[in-house]
Amino acid sequence: MSDISQSLARVHARIRSAATDAGRDPNTIRLLAVSKTKPEAMLRQAYAAGQRAFGENYLQDALPKIAALEALDIEWHYIGRIQSNKTREIAQHFAWVHGLDKLKHAQRLSEQRPPELPPLQCCIQVNLSGEASKGGVAPDQLPQLAEAVAALPRLQLRGLMTMPDPHSSRAEQSQVFERLAQLREQLNTRGLQLDTLSMGMSGDLELAIAAGATLVRIGTDIFGARN
Ligand SMILES: *Cc1c(COP(=O)(O)O)cnc(C)c1O
Repeated sequence: MSDISQSLARVHARIRSAATDAGRDPNTIRLLAVSKTKPEAMLRQAYAAGQRAFGENYLQDALPKIAALEALDIEWHYIGRIQSNKTREIAQHFAWVHGLDKLKHAQRLSEQRPPELPPLQCCIQVNLSGEASKGGVAPDQLPQLAEAVAALPRLQLRGLMTMPDPHSSRAEQSQVFERLAQLREQLNTRGLQLDTLSMGMSGDLELAIAAGATLVRIGTDIFGARN
């Protein structure tokens, strides 16, 4: 077994035990392997171990890997910051986008999504930590943005994404995850149908799963520390 297949197995075991502790079905939680900065060979090892969903943050790093691995059945997720001049490449090369926080970007992605591809699957990022430097829409702006994004023809709004301040306490991180789950409930009460809570990373996946995460984004614990 490669190191990566062993670390993937450990992450799956953590997901299973966190789900069981929370009284949840582990099969309702997807693992996104965050492969930013990692070489193609490592992605191939993860793929050989059964991993299919990969997350990337930097287009210049991701696009050559996407091209090199084109023959594989990989679902690519863009989890970095979105910039207007990058929306076309995101719309062309990815199946999912997790960091949507501006209607302008959503409109461009919808217009630029190639007609032969299925709608781009989207999560709106919500800034619940109050850090000004972080991406994400403020919670009071969320309903308006979510309804506008849901109405765009070539996007499918799947849910919400957040990242707590890594320096905050465990209790504060849990509160952020629980708040995101509540926001999704509120939007669904208003008639949206959001099935995804994209939350939880290597350091906090148990807290995120306890709060209802359906997709955890794990880099370090699969591929090792980044340079
Ligand atoms: C890098 C990154 C991750 C993975 O973080 P790890 O702590 O390495 O597991 C998850 N989500 C986003 C948005 C990231 O940028």
